[in-house]
Amino acid sequence: MEDIKQFRNAKTESQMQTLVMGLKVCPVCNSLTRIEAEQCSLCNWSGKFDTDVTHVADHLGDLLAKCPELLDTLVPAATPSLLSRIKEFLTQEIHLRKRLDLHA
Ligand SMILES: [Zn+2]
Repeated sequence: MEDIKQFRNAKTESQMQTLVMGLKVCPVCNSLTRIEAEQCSLCNWSGKFDTDVTHVADHLGDLLAKCPELLDTLVPAATPSLLSRIKEFLTQEIHLRKRLDLHA
């Protein structure tokens, strides 16, 4: 089994923990399903699911080993904060005004 730790470098520990806590393993088909779903999304199992964090992390690690790009979908990149967007806007604005300085 692939170790999920190798994927933790790409995302923060808390993001990975949130992801793992939001999933469960179907005991019938071993697929991952969202924790709030009542049925398995693959085989429609609706009994008890495996919510053991270690098992979920192992299954997620296997899945990400086959398709690493999936991580970007499961854990989207953090959107920039309002403060950083304002700072970026002002920086661009200052550069623009310097280029358009007509006082000379
Ligand atoms: Zn299933």
